[in-house]
Amino acid sequence: MDELLCPRPCPAVAAIRRDFNALRDHLAVGHRCVDAWLALADLVTVPERRLDCLGRASALAADDLELEIAYLEQRLIVDPGDTEASGALRAARARRVLMGHKPRIFKQMDASLTLGTILVQMGAITGQELEWLLEEQAAVRRRGNQVMFGDVAVARGKVTPETLARALILQAQQRINNEAAPRALGEYLVAEGLPLERLEQALTEQIYLRRVGRHETLGEILLRRRWITRDQLERALAKQRRDMMSLFR
Ligand SMILES: [Zn+2]
Repeated sequence: MDELLCPRPCPAVAAIRRDFNALRDHLAVGHRCVDAWLALADLVTVPERRLDCLGRASALAADDLELEIAYLEQRLIVDPGDTEASGALRAARARRVLMGHKPRIFKQMDASLTLGTILVQMGAITGQELEWLLEEQAAVRRRGNQVMFGDVAVARGKVTPETLARALILQAQQRINNEAAPRALGEYLVAEGLPLERLEQALTEQIYLRRVGRHETLGEILLRRRWITRDQLERALAKQRRDMMSLFR
């Protein structure tokens, strides 16, 4: 039994979270305290010092995957060319996906990775840009804003709406070829007979609109263009809902 290993949350740290000297003293007397290192990481501003704090916290909590990811992300902030860290970060994120916790976020991250990979395969972005965009997306999410990977890529000027729409179509085709259950509404509409080229044009318009803050659903755009009937839309939505529900059974 390790007398000096603090529990999480550490009751001592709760009271001194913003007090740099008190946190340092808590550690100096020999407490092995993950929370104290994390609190220090939040207080320091120099990236290298923050990295040191996260590294020490992570070493004390080897099975904390989120902490490991935060540490690896910080390593890449300090040295964007750290290929070992970027490899380890990819592996850690994959492990998080496999563990299946935070299922809602995991599904979005999964979709982001796939879409990002397609953009890399298309030559639209580099692998490094993909890493960077995933970081940007994660940072926006940490501020509490849900944002799609594609929108981040467009907003940061890395791809055009046309390129993103193309990638979304390729992603849909890939899922159809893999006989994976279709997920996006567009895929259900293609099954209803909507030509892929029209879906691609509607997606492009949707991305342009979203970029200027106008949110129109794919169904609304397609109806406005008279490329689908309301009946087709209702059928596609009903199938999508049914498949979604089956995921939870
Ligand atoms: Zn403690």
